[in-house]
Amino acid sequence: MIDFTLDSVHQELQDMYRKFAEERVKPLAHEMDEKEEFDRGLLKEMQECGFFGIPFGEEYGGAGGDVLSYVLCMEEMSKVDASTGITLSVHTSLCASTIEEFGTEEQKQKWLRPLADGSKIGCFGLTEPGAGSDVAGARTVAVKDGDEYVINGEKIFTTNSGFADTFLVFALTDKSVPAHKGMSAFLVDRNTPGITVTADIPRMGIRAASNAAVVYEDVRVPAENLLGGVEGKGFKMAMKALDGGRIGIAAQSVGIAQGAINEAIKYDKERVQFGKTIASFQNTQFKLAEMQTKVDAARLMTWRAAVAKDKGEAYNVYAAMAKLMASEVANEVTRGCVQLLGGYGYAREYTVERMMRDAKITEIYEGTSEVMKMVVSGSMNLK
Ligand SMILES: Cc1cc2nc3c(=O)[nH]c(=O)nc-3n(C[C@H](O)[C@H](O)[C@H](O)COP(=O)(O)OP(=O)(O)OC[C@H]3O[C@@H](n4cnc5c(N)ncnc54)[C@H](O)[C@@H]3O)c2cc1C
Repeated sequence: MIDFTLDSVHQELQDMYRKFAEERVKPLAHEMDEKEEFDRGLLKEMQECGFFGIPFGEEYGGAGGDVLSYVLCMEEMSKVDASTGITLSVHTSLCASTIEEFGTEEQKQKWLRPLADGSKIGCFGLTEPGAGSDVAGARTVAVKDGDEYVINGEKIFTTNSGFADTFLVFALTDKSVPAHKGMSAFLVDRNTPGITVTADIPRMGIRAASNAAVVYEDVRVPAENLLGGVEGKGFKMAMKALDGGRIGIAAQSVGIAQGAINEAIKYDKERVQFGKTIASFQNTQFKLAEMQTKVDAARLMTWRAAVAKDKGEAYNVYAAMAKLMASEVANEVTRGCVQLLGGYGYAREYTVERMMRDAKITEIYEGTSEVMKMVVSGSMNLK
């Protein structure tokens, strides 16, 4: 039996996320993009409302929801502001979920709890200047020294790093073996001496999100901060984190695309040319019909991946397919919506311009579209 509709609990959550996004996020989105800065008041409000703990158990201070609820929240936030979406996503899917999945009980109490109850924000430091798609090319090291590890290296593009409290950082603990076996993950408090977060990297889109390079210079952490308490599992942890993260990025993509369609409909019902509204032209109607069909397909693929993860089933290929599809749809749809608004679509004042810029990153981070094709083709028994 397959049911493509949301049950009443998820419908209520969706309504609640939508209301918050419309009333609290949307009014700030344009200004945050212009200022290239996330509104700290909004961040605090989201923390207090429990948005940063949606899929985590109540025993760890979370909201006790599921991945599907988190996906619904991601779509609603990203519909009005993709920067809010990614801030939520990196904290939830990449940082806190990885601690939930791989942390020891003590680590969950100490590090997951404050992330799940919203009192702290997390980030995820995997990418390095020389290691992007090829994660195994990482050079950051963590050397054991008594009952401490000393971390040295540089991470780049670490989302949330400007204000995050908890840094989940990947480093080589054994350089004599390939990174698949020699990488480990560490929980690092922002205030640890030796951490330098650079200024935010100027960007095309999601400009309100915080994103910077982070330099680790002789950063000493207690051995108990080794995630899971075992060396050599970091690569696997990172790959699992990204598998889950891609569901969030797929939802972000669906949100951006749906938000752009909503804006285009509103505008085209009012704008009159040749004595008729733009919405009354069949070209406009057919374009919107095509776009909405693709967004619905991407949404269903995203829900499939989320539900598979909730059920404890294999979801990595579903997640890669959903991200590949949804990110391409987000780019096609936002470009199409700019066209439907004509010159005003190109103007900074109208939201679709920002959405088109924001959409591009969904094809790049948490694995590029090319990497998604590697994951999907790798599952197809082609060799
Ligand atoms: C705004 C933003 C936020 C980010 N947030 C985070 C974060 O929070 N934490 C984090 O760790 N990282 C983060 N990243 C990093 C992001 O995940 C990487 O940029 C991404 O994985 C691609 O790596 P790269 O930029 O080094 O590109 P490269 O790996 O150098 O790729 C360049 C191009 O070559 C293609 N390519 C590479 N290898 C192959 C291949 N084998 N076959 C075919 N094509 C290939 C790629 O698909 C891409 O098109 C972020 C990046 C950005 C821009």
